[in-house]
Amino acid sequence: MSDKSSLSYLGEFGLIEKIRNKSSSLPPEVLKGIGDDAAAVNFRAGKVLMTTDMLLEGIHFDLSFTTYYQLGHKTVAVNVSDIFAMGGIPKYFLLSVGIPKNSKPGDIDDLYSGIREASGRFGVSVIGGDTCASENGLVLSGTLVGHADKIILRSGAREGDNIFVTNTLGDSAMGLFLLQGQGSRVQGTVRRNRNGNLRFKNLNSRHVLTLIKKHLMPEPAAVRNTSRITSMIDISDGLLIDLSHICDESNTGAIIYRDSIPISRELSEIAGILGEDPMRFALTGGEDYALLFTSPSKFRTNAVKIGKIIRKGRYIADSEGRKMPFAAEGYEHFKIKY
Ligand code: ADP
Ligand code: MG
Repeated sequence: MSDKSSLSYLGEFGLIEKIRNKSSSLPPEVLKGIGDDAAAVNFRAGKVLMTTDMLLEGIHFDLSFTTYYQLGHKTVAVNVSDIFAMGGIPKYFLLSVGIPKNSKPGDIDDLYSGIREASGRFGVSVIGGDTCASENGLVLSGTLVGHADKIILRSGAREGDNIFVTNTLGDSAMGLFLLQGQGSRVQGTVRRNRNGNLRFKNLNSRHVLTLIKKHLMPEPAAVRNTSRITSMIDISDGLLIDLSHICDESNTGAIIYRDSIPISRELSEIAGILGEDPMRFALTGGEDYALLFTSPSKFRTNAVKIGKIIRKGRYIADSEGRKMPFAAEGYEHFKIKY
């Protein structure tokens, strides 16, 4: 195997040609995908949504924990999550890549396999991008275009609305915590066997892998019926920070019922063994890519009620009704860093 990077091996145009050949077929309204100066789409949808998200080596990921395939998946998934958070349907994806000198010829193939898997799953077409050599590690910048009939903003929450989340929280943060070997009881338990597979001493490895997968390959899911939703955001920075964004934009307060926050069996078991508080991961962990939304309705089938929008103040209430104020900034220093 050559030690040359994919880029120097194939050249920019060879690489683009390869990406083009590996891409899935395009829907008929895409008049031009990869291969011209810009993609062209016969776009008849009413309201267009556009979002872009970057993943930088050393800031957002560590190549010793994640594969190029998983990164391809995640680059699509984090952008899809933003379109879902606006109540939209994701459609067209463009990826700009900065390829490091030490990348191997198969790495970009793996990246695009992950992109193809995720874009197929979310009904997204890859229609373009840009390719450069990078002096400072792998750079991935994804741009996603979508559409929506009803756009849901962060600013629509009203006093009396219920607060919901669509998935368990804290799993991704625990996954990263395990990958990084953080915490006194995790240290020394993380090993790689000869095949490079991770092994965790004294921990249920199926649970560990579930948590790690939630971090490396998040699976955002849309809310099926948005008609009674007043505000929405995806949880990328952690529940407290993202709920604070809704409160800031809507000019409201919020109260969270601590005992209602959905925590997976995997997180609660592993945290228990490690002597960690699962609630810290659920409240402040981030990268859950679950949706957080408000609605005056009483219940929704695919979401869990965790609190209420109030006029002023931000609190977490325990089962006895004792209220503790929270501030998004106060929790930022807990955030896990690469
Ligand atoms: P230009 O120099 O006009 O910007 P490029 O040579 O950069 O054109 O790109 C040629 C075509 O290949 C365009 O359609 C572009 O969107 C596509 N492309 C370039 N890099 C990528 C990539 N990493 N992933 C997908 N498409 C790409
Ligand atoms: Mg270019």
